[in-house]
Amino acid sequence: NRPIKKPKSTKETNDFSKIGGLNHHLRTLREIVIFPLLHGNVFAHFKIKAPRGVLFYGPPGTGKTLVAGALAAELNKEGVGKVSFFPRKGADILDKWVGESEKNLRALFEKATKSRPSIIFFDELDGLAPIRSDKNDHVHSSVVATLLSLLDGLDTKPGVIVIGATNRIEAIDPALRRKGRFDKELYFPLPGTLARRDILQILTSNWKRKPSGEFLEELADMTHGFCGADLQALCSDAVLTCLRRAYPKIDSRGADIKVEPDLLQVEESDFLEA
Ligand code: ATP
Repeated sequence: NRPIKKPKSTKETNDFSKIGGLNHHLRTLREIVIFPLLHGNVFAHFKIKAPRGVLFYGPPGTGKTLVAGALAAELNKEGVGKVSFFPRKGADILDKWVGESEKNLRALFEKATKSRPSIIFFDELDGLAPIRSDKNDHVHSSVVATLLSLLDGLDTKPGVIVIGATNRIEAIDPALRRKGRFDKELYFPLPGTLARRDILQILTSNWKRKPSGEFLEELADMTHGFCGADLQALCSDAVLTCLRRAYPKIDSRGADIKVEPDLLQVEESDFLEA
């Protein structure tokens, strides 16, 4: 019964260098988020307002969550200072007790305001703020109204950026998409061939023995319709296939076998088998 050895911490912050195929998005975020935080005096001088909220939308697995997290790391790097990041799933805010969801929202905005500069990230915003209608329950209407007033309240508190992400932009209450609220919208598409090539390159960049550039290009050609998350799964499967090939006894004697990751060569056939 040997104690299980903990792997060395692999926690690394993903900044913009870990994102493939979304250069236009990253440039836009630089302009609308990083620039106002770094040069607030210019905005104040010309009396122009920085966007308050940004809405990321598009199919699942296309990098919306990844980019939101990387933005905080990028801001740190750019010298804005330590940026607090508050990621929340839309449904996490909702509470079955009347008034509690609104309370959760207010507490979140208060915390983010206290620790400015900060980013609030609402994943699955459509679950939290769906279109209000007569048929809709009052709970959602009241949550949306609270969110609107909290966003409007940020006008006097620069330094809090709110990002929402959704797969269903049409399901979000339109009032949230008006000027001064989530007024910048960025579409995250399924990656094209070049973007897939970029993503594959990033996903394999810290492997000691990397697949050749030519093969990654071929792989990008073969993976039409894959999103970034699919490409990540493909790389994970290829590593596992390689591991099984290199250490055939790993299933029966797993704990006794010392695996040297630096020596593992993930072959093209491992990808194709995966
Ligand atoms: P969902 O809408 O389902 O929440 P998402 O758009 O937020 O999905 P992410 O969670 O950001 O997708 O992506 C999942 C994983 O896929 C990431 O952690 C990353 O490993 C990989 N990935 C996706 N897009 C990219 C990209 N553009 N560059 C590098 N890796 C990517």
